[in-house]
Amino acid sequence: VSEQYICIGCGVKIQTEDRNAIGYAPQSALLKEAIICQRCFRLKHYNEVQDVNLTDDDFLKILNEIGKRDSLIVKIVDIFDFNGSWLPGLHRFVGNNKILLIGNKVDLLPKSIKHNKLMNWMKQEAKELGLKPEDVFLVSAATGKNISEVAEAIDKYRKGKDVYVVGCTNVGKSTFINRILKEVTGEGDVITTSHFPGTTLDIIEIPLSDGKSLVDTPGIINHHQMAHFVDKRDLKIITPKKEIKPTVFQLNEGQTLFMGGLARFDYMTGGRRSFVCHFSNELHIHRTKLENADELYKNHVGEMLTPPRTEQLESFPELVRHEFTIKEGKTDIVFSGLGWITVNEPGAKVAAYVPRGVHALLRKSLI
Ligand code: GDP
Repeated sequence: VSEQYICIGCGVKIQTEDRNAIGYAPQSALLKEAIICQRCFRLKHYNEVQDVNLTDDDFLKILNEIGKRDSLIVKIVDIFDFNGSWLPGLHRFVGNNKILLIGNKVDLLPKSIKHNKLMNWMKQEAKELGLKPEDVFLVSAATGKNISEVAEAIDKYRKGKDVYVVGCTNVGKSTFINRILKEVTGEGDVITTSHFPGTTLDIIEIPLSDGKSLVDTPGIINHHQMAHFVDKRDLKIITPKKEIKPTVFQLNEGQTLFMGGLARFDYMTGGRRSFVCHFSNELHIHRTKLENADELYKNHVGEMLTPPRTEQLESFPELVRHEFTIKEGKTDIVFSGLGWITVNEPGAKVAAYVPRGVHALLRKSLI
């Protein structure tokens, strides 16, 4: 009979299987007298927050609660996966609360990207998705770029209120909070947990100088993110750690590019022209003839066209075709969570293929 252990920090049931789920503790922790979950351990000893996954239902309750509290909301998205990492429900809950929109992972963008253009695009896109942020920032939580500006803005906009940080998993919310923590907390500050009513999960409260708190809310999993369709071992292939180096392909009509086996790009009509590919440097791009592409994919996905891996193929979603006619010059064809292809001249007819559920879209080029 297995014993049930409870964390002395937050009271959750301890489990040792899933390190990203609530209540995780390594086996070795069970030998101790006072058992504490990994999340509380990190909080207690390193003043560090760690993300755990939560259910959609809990997440809605949290959003609902945030909407009811007079506060500043800081929403984090991954600029490399803007649409995929968007929290679709948020605007229905914000009420009168002000929002700062933070695009994280700016370190991954090629130098040719103009930050002002990207911020304007983010504002425009946010508006279309129903959200009107007070201000927009580009940061790198990994390198610390623009973090102090954001810390200042948070202080300016919160006007003595609590601050809620929200974002889906993988946007870098923990990394971001840990950076901000270093900026705002001095020695001796005590981070505490408390809960939102009706949820299974504690939130983390970081004290601010005036007795208010910066609150880290748990991240929700967006199931349609590309990251969920690749094996953990392949995540580092598709999510670059370094600045992306664009690759130019001169294509004739009737040619196809495969981005590993995760996405496909068909060039149908528009004469010989160049396409600038912005994907992780580690992701292999394979060029072939459009007429052979279906056959090639069937025979080589999981091997030459990888990720996905062979052993994953059964659960890997089919690629869905999205056709576009490029009507304006300098347009990006975005494969959400993976990258994008820039077309400089109008008039091309193309198709983008992404796993079912992942977004494919056009946007005005950021370059
Ligand atoms: P969370 O799930 O939102 O809390 O995200 P994490 O903070 O755990 O980060 C998710 C992944 O993104 C990790 O692999 C981080 O190393 C990476 N990451 C976070 N911030 C940045 C950033 O500014 N730049 C880059 N390149 N990677 C980042």
